[in-house]
Amino acid sequence: MTDALNLWFDPTKCLIDGAWVAPASGQCLPLSNPSTGEEIGAIARGTAADIDAAVDAATRAWQGDWGRVTAVERGRILYRLGQLVLERADDLARIEALDVGKPLKQARADAIALARYLEFYAGAADKLHGQTIPYQDGYTVYTLREAHGVSAHIVPWNYPMQIIGRSVGAALATGNACVLKPAEDACLTALAFADLAKAAGLPDGALNVVPGLGAEAGAALSGHPGVHHVSFTGSVMTGVQVQTAAAQNVVPVTLELGGKSPQLVFDDADLDAALPFLVNAGIQNAGQTCSASSRILAHRSVYDQVVERMAARYGELRVGPAMADLDVGPLISAKQKGLVEGFLSQGADLEIAAQGVLQDAPNGGNYVQPTLFCGVAPDHSLARDEVFGPVQVVIPFDTEEEAVAITNGTDYGLVASVWTQNGARQMRLARAIRSGQVFLNNYGAGGGVELPFGGIGKSGHGREKGFEALYGFTTLKTVAAYHG
Ligand code: NAD
Repeated sequence: MTDALNLWFDPTKCLIDGAWVAPASGQCLPLSNPSTGEEIGAIARGTAADIDAAVDAATRAWQGDWGRVTAVERGRILYRLGQLVLERADDLARIEALDVGKPLKQARADAIALARYLEFYAGAADKLHGQTIPYQDGYTVYTLREAHGVSAHIVPWNYPMQIIGRSVGAALATGNACVLKPAEDACLTALAFADLAKAAGLPDGALNVVPGLGAEAGAALSGHPGVHHVSFTGSVMTGVQVQTAAAQNVVPVTLELGGKSPQLVFDDADLDAALPFLVNAGIQNAGQTCSASSRILAHRSVYDQVVERMAARYGELRVGPAMADLDVGPLISAKQKGLVEGFLSQGADLEIAAQGVLQDAPNGGNYVQPTLFCGVAPDHSLARDEVFGPVQVVIPFDTEEEAVAITNGTDYGLVASVWTQNGARQMRLARAIRSGQVFLNNYGAGGGVELPFGGIGKSGHGREKGFEALYGFTTLKTVAAYHG
């Protein structure tokens, strides 16, 4: 079955303590191709027993070989791993396209981003250090940054490679031993990554991967008493469950959750520059992006132009199978398609400005037409709730104060962008907007791995990416020496 995917590893196994082992359940979960609905293989159904074994292996690695590896050598291993990822970028992209339905170019960009995370954290591994603290006469006081120990990584299906890069990359750079639970709908590149990590010389047990269902493997991992830190990326509902489980063991949790990220277009905006960002940030990865820009707030004086120009672009969007590499691929699953269609039916009372076009899309695939709604009131469910599909709303506003109030009027605060030439307004809004990231005259800044990322409110807490992530994956020890 795995032949169609041409895998060089066995996805029905877990990687535990450097060995590929069958899951304790002896069971597999089916894999389907989102572009066609066809079954294309199977993955291991890991459960609590496999998580126990993985946490044990990680504990031994952290207390043993892996714990003794110097920061310089950790950096070298990560660098080698990044090089291997680059060498296999085409394979990783193909696997991801078949498994997740991501158009090939976007899948390849994820593989390149994964390599870039590894490069960045390879270089950062030996740059993280504590401080000396001036204190009373007779004392020397300093701080040490130390790995938490065993870190758990629970990852969603939308950007597996990028999220593994930013969380597992930073955790390994700081000396943690990792247990990774990929999403049941998107395990393959996680397993490929683990295989490449072995080839790069990562010691056994430093990275363990257990595929499986959230309620089984995920729940067992988030509540495991042997885990010292949990990095979770996924939905708000699951994030609450993960944090509740981790709280029983009083361990820190990073939550990277959802969003309803706006772009604010003022009357003096450079619309030519803004247009590609206004649309792409909404439809990239079929809108299944935590930082998808699903709300466009347009000043009333440019509102018609914004709608007209976005609508023209929507009319050109081609939707089809991942391997055809069009603008938009299928959604991950029939379930996700049903959820997005539910949201679209909530917009039955709204004006549709434009929709994308299906092109040679097989019947069994999980396709929805990208849809642009206009004239949407800020309190409409489509303007407040995360859709996680290729759906955007345009909301008119009259004043800067109103734009800020609408922006801050959802439960989320992940990303926002402001399009204006007015420097004072840029500075005011960068402060007034409640969000983990604010972009001025761009959206996402090309996704640079150097930029700390994370949310406020129901978008989560803690920061990953950039140097900031290294603080999150370490604990601070204060040493005070009295020498008289
Ligand atoms: P999800 O919460 O359903 O699943 C995420 C992961 O959690 C999966 O690996 C799943 O198996 C696991 N899981 C499910 N139930 C669990 C439980 N009870 N205990 C432990 N683990 C469990 O989310 P999803 O549908 O895969 O992803 C979509 C969501 O993720 C969206 O809301 C999106 O905004 C968010 N997301 C956020 C970011 C970010 O960086 N902020 C990035 C990507 C996705």
